[in-house]
Amino acid sequence: MTKFILALSLLALTMPSVANAHGGGCRKSSPPGQCCHMDNSTGVVHCH
Ligand SMILES: [Zn+2]
Repeated sequence: MTKFILALSLLALTMPSVANAHGGGCRKSSPPGQCCHMDNSTGVVHCH
């Protein structure tokens, strides 16, 4: 049981770090008001 809780909390700890994995800078070609950059985990450029 303790192992299960440990695994859960470990998952909870790693999940947000994956979601926030893309800090990085904005590309120069980013449209005004947007920030485009490469998501290193997927290799896809996206803007937000
Ligand atoms: Zn992003």
